[in-house]
Amino acid sequence: MKHRSGSPIAACVGAAIMFACALVFPTARAAVFDPKTFTLDNGLQVVLVENHSVPAVVQMLWYKVGSADEPRGKSGIAHFLEHLMFKGTEAVPAGEFSKIVAQHGGRDNAFTTRDYTGYYQVVAADRLGLVMEMEADRMANLRLTDELVLPERDVILEERRSRIDNSPAAQLGEAMNAALYLHHPYRLPVIGWESEIAALGTDDALAFYEQHYAPNNAILVVAGDVTLEELRPLVEKHYGPLEARDVPPRVRTQEPPHLASRRVVLRSDQVREPSWRRSYLAPSYTYGDMADPYALQVLSELLGGGPTSRLHRSVVLDERVGAAAGSWYDPNAVDMSTFGIYGVPRQGQTLEAVEAAVEQVLANLVREGVTEEEVAAAKQRLQAAAIFARDSLQTGARVLGEALVTGRTIEDVESWPERIAAVTVDEVETAARAVFKEERSVTGLLLPDPAPAPVAEADPATPAPAPIQTPAPPPSTPAGRGS
Ligand SMILES: [Zn+2]
Repeated sequence: MKHRSGSPIAACVGAAIMFACALVFPTARAAVFDPKTFTLDNGLQVVLVENHSVPAVVQMLWYKVGSADEPRGKSGIAHFLEHLMFKGTEAVPAGEFSKIVAQHGGRDNAFTTRDYTGYYQVVAADRLGLVMEMEADRMANLRLTDELVLPERDVILEERRSRIDNSPAAQLGEAMNAALYLHHPYRLPVIGWESEIAALGTDDALAFYEQHYAPNNAILVVAGDVTLEELRPLVEKHYGPLEARDVPPRVRTQEPPHLASRRVVLRSDQVREPSWRRSYLAPSYTYGDMADPYALQVLSELLGGGPTSRLHRSVVLDERVGAAAGSWYDPNAVDMSTFGIYGVPRQGQTLEAVEAAVEQVLANLVREGVTEEEVAAAKQRLQAAAIFARDSLQTGARVLGEALVTGRTIEDVESWPERIAAVTVDEVETAARAVFKEERSVTGLLLPDPAPAPVAEADPATPAPAPIQTPAPPPSTPAGRGS
């Protein structure tokens, strides 16, 4: 993303609070979003979530293209183009887009992930036409020259240095990701490999733009203080004249069978706090039949979703080897997804002790199953998180946009509460047994270098250290799911 806005959604697509986001984003309630939709003749699907609580709107334009759609050897071009979309058209010169939005009291940003690229503005409701005009303009009329493109490439290289190369945790995430996916392009970092970023040029950006940026390859989501009757003429006026184009199908290489577990160790003198992670290959909403994605959400919640979860109770409270432990699972992906587990040792404890304690929890769960009570409680916590989602304009836009752009339907989003409510104990157990397969996993260890001097065992009478605020980032992108 650009480095200007500190808006909540921009923060959410970053690494740090992925776990909080994962709880909220896959969620929706039919009675809340109740979206309306129509499609223009040029193929642009439009979705409206009315919310008249404040006189504001968010416009989010989602393109069905991300880093996993990049040509081989051009890693980072999707994210690079995201930056370049602010480099101007004839009507809105370089650098002016965000300035104009700000002059009208709004804010804007953009994000790139493996599967999609998005642009959004939050403005007063009476400025919706203005931001639509500008967003539609840059879908068709982007102008790029070396004078604009090459300095921005240096910005991206610096972004990579600061977000990945100066962060051992992000470096480990990148290495784990490259190890988890043997062949699928999800193994590539969203921001790109440094040598490939450095070789990207104006022609690469323009080719990618022309191939993928078209109304029939986009979803427009508007949320806020506007009615369908007001929205439709605005959309027709600004986006209607854009022409549909042939867009290449999303054909991605697929994974071969996974036969060997992998272990990735990163030592760095920048590491102050060692940590442990494991990623298992898992199905998404739209890919894979090894387990049910709804059951996996319940599983992740009961296993590692907060202070009452099995991992926290066992690894942190009972065994007292961990300062923190938890899990994450995000079923939103075009192809396969990941089920992740992390643990941070207490002072004086080792990663091996944390790993053994986590594995004990997993083994118990697989062997003995789960209880009706914890499944019910996990479902209730997920449902409660969904209720928070309805209060935010941006969350509604984000949930719907992400679903549609990864191949799901509005109906899928609207039925989420019922689908979660219907998950059974048996389904959770089946999902756990299917996903927790060592040969489909990669384990990552983040260690200080040199190793710290041995510390006396933590005194059991002293309280556990405060949980770290940022658990290990999920392995999907440079430093999270978006950049
Ligand atoms: Zn960026």
